[in-house]
Amino acid sequence: MRPLRTTLTPEEMPTKWYNILPDLPEPLAPPLHPGTKQPVSPSDFEPLFPKALIAQEMSSERYIDIPDEVLQAYMLVNRPSPLQRAERLEKALKTPAKIYYKREDLSPAGSHKTNTSLAQTYYNMKQGVEKITTETGAGQWGTALALATNYFGLKCQVFMVRASYDQKPYRREMMRVYGAEVNPSPSTITDFGKKMLEKDPKHPGSLGIAISEAIEACVKGNSTKYSLGSVLNHVMLHQTIIGRETLLQFQKLGEQPDYMIGCVGGGSNFAGFTFPAIGEKLKKKTSTEFIAVEPKVVPSLTKGKYEYDFGDTAGMTPLLLMYTLGHDFVPSPIHAGGLRYHGAAPTVSALVKHKIVKPVAYEQKEVFDAAVLFAEAEGVIPAPETSHAIKSAVDLALEAKKKNEKKIIAFNFSGHGLLDLGGYQHYMDGKMT
Ligand SMILES: *Cc1c(COP(=O)(O)O)cnc(C)c1O
Repeated sequence: MRPLRTTLTPEEMPTKWYNILPDLPEPLAPPLHPGTKQPVSPSDFEPLFPKALIAQEMSSERYIDIPDEVLQAYMLVNRPSPLQRAERLEKALKTPAKIYYKREDLSPAGSHKTNTSLAQTYYNMKQGVEKITTETGAGQWGTALALATNYFGLKCQVFMVRASYDQKPYRREMMRVYGAEVNPSPSTITDFGKKMLEKDPKHPGSLGIAISEAIEACVKGNSTKYSLGSVLNHVMLHQTIIGRETLLQFQKLGEQPDYMIGCVGGGSNFAGFTFPAIGEKLKKKTSTEFIAVEPKVVPSLTKGKYEYDFGDTAGMTPLLLMYTLGHDFVPSPIHAGGLRYHGAAPTVSALVKHKIVKPVAYEQKEVFDAAVLFAEAEGVIPAPETSHAIKSAVDLALEAKKKNEKKIIAFNFSGHGLLDLGGYQHYMDGKMT
């Protein structure tokens, strides 16, 4: 038997996250206060985040201990996750390349996002926080946070963009099953939401409005904090459990990937998968190339400007130095809802700026072609977001075939597509162009 899966035992799971900040080619530019344009001080974040997360956001420690309770919770979401060989996909492509994918879809919430929702909720619980507010678009992040708050016994209040709340009931119901309160945004429970509804009682909502509502509910609440599912340094940090496991798995295989690929919305699954290996590359210990994949209609890394911009659409958050299309950029309604962010994490942006990470962009149709090819070969239906990484892996495998090179290609399988079948229906019916 040839094992097509490389696993780790629970005892082999890494017990520290990797913090890339001290290893970056130059120090990361600080977030700026939206009013004064001066660097934000740690205490400015205290109404929103527990102190432990603020410390992690700015930490210069290379390795940070994962608390025992979080390691315990990671096992609940199927960590350590397997590194799988896509041999049937290789055969379908007739490529001499080897293709591997890291299974982040095996979390009960369906994506990598529980790696940070569990960590964030844990630190909130330790500080005595009783309730966490957040926003969600299509619902992946809300679902992950609802699972985590349920696990650690905190209340969860989610503001879900109304268009998704109405059109995508299944993630909404998952959140409710986990005990979260889910409000369509704009809602009637915040002043900002009420103001929006006065203007338009049928307002479809936006992520920017939902963020504003979640922050208002946090600041006005008792023993309440706010949580974000991507972009910030501490979120990238928590996700590095993915890449640290992957390095161990490649060690077991006695191989080194030539390419590591991830899709980028805010950047967290890409960062989590690649940062530990990028750390090695920065120390000149590996020659792996890193590829960040985004949709052509939201080309922040390939066409955006590297400048200070707001993290949200409403312009309420601190300014971050990143590749951005402008905070008022309105992306087309593609099925990969998780990739519709106007910017990208400051850490990922800095690595693109220094040419350590190469960004590429694809059209929706070619991404779904790759998704269906993958599902036919491997039996797993990928999320539309994940399928961007698959498309890049397929392209590299075909290039290796042309040059007859035995390349090793690895991509992060960020989530399954079982709640995205509406997108597949659109594709299967031949309506996607
Ligand atoms: C949220 C999400 C993404 C995009 O977010 P990142 O922070 O860039 O990782 C990608 N894939 C899946 C499955 C998601 O749920």
